[in-house]
Amino acid sequence: MHGALDDTICAIATPPGEGGIGVIRVSGQHALDVAAQVVLPRSGKPLSELVSHKLTVADVRSPARAQDVPQGEELPVRSLLDEALVVVMKRPHSYTGEDVVEVQCHGGPVVLDQLCRWLLAAGARLAEPGEFTKRAFLNGKLDLAQAEAVLDTIRAKTARSLTVAQAQRRGMLSREVEQIRSELVTALAHIEAALDFGDEDIAFVRKDELLRLLETTHLKLRRLVESGKDGRIWREGAVVVILGRPNVGKSSLLNALLRSDRAIVTPIPGTTRDVLEELVSIDGIPVRLIDTAGIRLTHDPVEAEGIRRSRLAWADADLALILLDGSEPLSQEDSSLLSSDQAVHSILVVNKCDLPRKLSPTHLEGACPGHSDIVDISATTQMGLDALRGAIRKRVLTGGVESPDGVMVTNLRHADACQRALLGVEQAQHSVAADRAGELIALDLRIAADALGEITGTITTDEILERIFSEFCIGK
Ligand code: GDP
Repeated sequence: MHGALDDTICAIATPPGEGGIGVIRVSGQHALDVAAQVVLPRSGKPLSELVSHKLTVADVRSPARAQDVPQGEELPVRSLLDEALVVVMKRPHSYTGEDVVEVQCHGGPVVLDQLCRWLLAAGARLAEPGEFTKRAFLNGKLDLAQAEAVLDTIRAKTARSLTVAQAQRRGMLSREVEQIRSELVTALAHIEAALDFGDEDIAFVRKDELLRLLETTHLKLRRLVESGKDGRIWREGAVVVILGRPNVGKSSLLNALLRSDRAIVTPIPGTTRDVLEELVSIDGIPVRLIDTAGIRLTHDPVEAEGIRRSRLAWADADLALILLDGSEPLSQEDSSLLSSDQAVHSILVVNKCDLPRKLSPTHLEGACPGHSDIVDISATTQMGLDALRGAIRKRVLTGGVESPDGVMVTNLRHADACQRALLGVEQAQHSVAADRAGELIALDLRIAADALGEITGTITTDEILERIFSEFCIGK
């Protein structure tokens, strides 16, 4: 159903370019035979006799072409490509659950490319993106949520995000989901048994018992759905856009938060013309900070394009920081920004507080009545930055899950499945309470259980697998 698993795949597992070492992976039924044609342990032992999971020094040599050599003659000395370390991981104790050979060569593109070509000539096929992990899933080494967490682990942007990904990779989410699913399946079995006995009004299963069970599953699912609100932030990062007229200090703030000099700071208005994005860790939360060109009227076509992008960035952002210059009175441009409908989704940041204050709080209140999220900072002296970080954290984490240590849904696919499961359970609760037919209750419970099954992959389709694994890199 999931495509052939009987062929042997290979790929360069390290990123392209030069590196200290480069790793090539081979996995499949014939991994040892295929690799043995070009990887020759110095000890003279064939690969298949190496101790599993132990590194061995080996020569990587061009494959012998026995058919080119007349019978009875010695094979020619094969050219040495590289000296490498090789490790054999015998099935089922490998990442994919199949025989795996990993060769650590020098990390140059020519070495890795040549070895890869020889392995292909020796009978391997180039792996598709994510195919090693897909095989791990198909061979039962990981469930689907764990396989997805492998990608999250690779892509984690902060230490906290990594913690979340690792918990999922170890199966924390899967266990919770499977627990809920098994409760639903048990309830379903009781109802179906009642139906088989022709007991239409499900008296066979005590109604109050069923309601209690559904109440518990409902609570657990609600928690998962709630965690999903912040989960996306932990996994993908929050998008925070910095807005403000030219020269209020947007680039300076970005740099202060980055503590580096990625943006060019200049006192000439209107020089940050494009949208600049940087990833920062704010108390462990990955935040994609977007510095905009400033939203203002202009006839300069380049700047106008920048402004158009600023507006787009604002519309897509989780939060905006509206930056004001505390050393100047409120300008027309500031006021028009503050009067925008979107301004409620913002923190007002009054910058340059190291200079004498000219921005009147009354004017500010007048321009944006009732807005209470105001933070005073100085991008130059770093004053107020911790308070600003705290305010950002408070605003982007909406789900109330303060720590990512518990079970958390971070993936949109999982969040969607949990939501459908929750709806199914709610429907079932209504049907039970209203003494509806057992078939109806069973149908809703089946929908809920199947939705949860999609998360771990108990229920899956080739299309889902294709979508998930195509996001991976080749060699993972
Ligand atoms: P942008 O156009 O909004 O990106 O503004 P910039 O970050 O380029 O800053 C404009 C000018 O204001 C530069 O000369 C900065 O050095 C200065 N500036 C930015 N933040 C502060 C601050 O907190 N205090 C003071 N005194 N000057 C600042």
